[in-house]
Amino acid sequence: MLHLPDPRIYYCIQTVTGNPMTDCPPSAPGRYGLERTDQCVKCALCLPRCPTYRLTALETESPRGRIRLMEALDRGEVGFDPAVVEALEHCLGCLSCEAVCPASVPYGALIDRVRTVMPAKRGFSLEPWVIGFSEHPRRLRFFDRLLRILARTGLLTPLGRVLTGPSGRALRLLPNPYPRQPVQAGRWIPSGPSTGRVALLAGCFSSLWSPATYDSAVRVLTRWGHPVEIPESPLCCGALARHSGAETRAARQREKTRSRLDPSTPLLVTDSGCWREARELADDVYELTSFLLRAWPQGVHAALGKSQRIAVHVPCSQSAQVHQPRAAEQLMEHIDQVVLLPFELPEGCCGGAGSYLLAMPEWSSRFASSLLPALPQPLPDRIVTTNLGCRMQFEAELRRAGLVIPVQHPVEVLDEAFGRLP
Ligand code: SF4
Ligand code: SF4
Repeated sequence: MLHLPDPRIYYCIQTVTGNPMTDCPPSAPGRYGLERTDQCVKCALCLPRCPTYRLTALETESPRGRIRLMEALDRGEVGFDPAVVEALEHCLGCLSCEAVCPASVPYGALIDRVRTVMPAKRGFSLEPWVIGFSEHPRRLRFFDRLLRILARTGLLTPLGRVLTGPSGRALRLLPNPYPRQPVQAGRWIPSGPSTGRVALLAGCFSSLWSPATYDSAVRVLTRWGHPVEIPESPLCCGALARHSGAETRAARQREKTRSRLDPSTPLLVTDSGCWREARELADDVYELTSFLLRAWPQGVHAALGKSQRIAVHVPCSQSAQVHQPRAAEQLMEHIDQVVLLPFELPEGCCGGAGSYLLAMPEWSSRFASSLLPALPQPLPDRIVTTNLGCRMQFEAELRRAGLVIPVQHPVEVLDEAFGRLP
């Protein structure tokens, strides 16, 4: 039996001495059901991909360290003492580690599982409120109306400035100007010949805060001949609840949403952060930019009318979960007058990872603080990204710095480019 009074020290010693962590007995079913941790061969290939490791250079903040912690928890070698809980809480759930692991360690399943048994967070957090809103469409609409009233009366921005702590930060992350109305459900028929029908998933918060993305998607898709349906929204995929360890609630939300969709209609997902859950909502599910790349009609060109320098941000979810890191960039390459700029974040993540924005505000801010210094110079005319959380992080940082650079979903740029065509 190993005794680990402080896992941080334990891992530092192992890292320094090079003592491999493979001398543990093979894993038997443990007390938390954290299976397959022993698949990790400690090769360290995942470490340079892990944003929290890149930020801290601490083994406990790495996937390998967290896997070893979960193994130790499962075997009863450590308990949920504060250092252990912190190391696990700091994980963004981005799965950049899982995507490169040669031993196929199911990191996502492990971190999801351990979060279901971790002690509840102490102190005030907005996360449970937000998850509650995502579960109940009526409450979500009420919350949206409240924010809209605050925005119309000009109180939303000053409130965000005066409030400190998590509430103030959450208000400062909201889109500004606040959208005039949420996504509207409906059906749209192409004016010309039709091809395959598709449905757009208007998720919980994206249905409130990115209606322009859905408007653009409807226009581009119908232009290309696809009849489009947006079912009555909001429809939550359960990602926020799963991030917080509420897996049963997440599964309930997925089931509810699935029952309201036609499983035979291909479902398009605008936010790459919803991808992991949304895959289970219908028989055919596509991330929107990847679908558009495949569906681009032959011989069709699009142009923006003037040269535009565009920085393409690739969310972790787009590269590690959708596995289409170049989809947005390739879409932009199809548009005349677009100049693509190299853009990479130092930690590889913006910190806008679903409920992490609310659950881990300090850590999320640490990641956000490296966004602006990473922007290409001279500054781009616009930034594109495929995830709402990332977009909110960027917009809040740009506002804070007094910079006006639109942050859009790639489909909004396409819509603009096609809007110029006859
Ligand atoms: S890449 Fe996989 S096997 Fe290697 S250290 Fe990371 S989790 Fe373990
Ligand atoms: S999910 Fe992301 S933050 Fe968490 S350990 Fe893996 S790479 Fe690091």
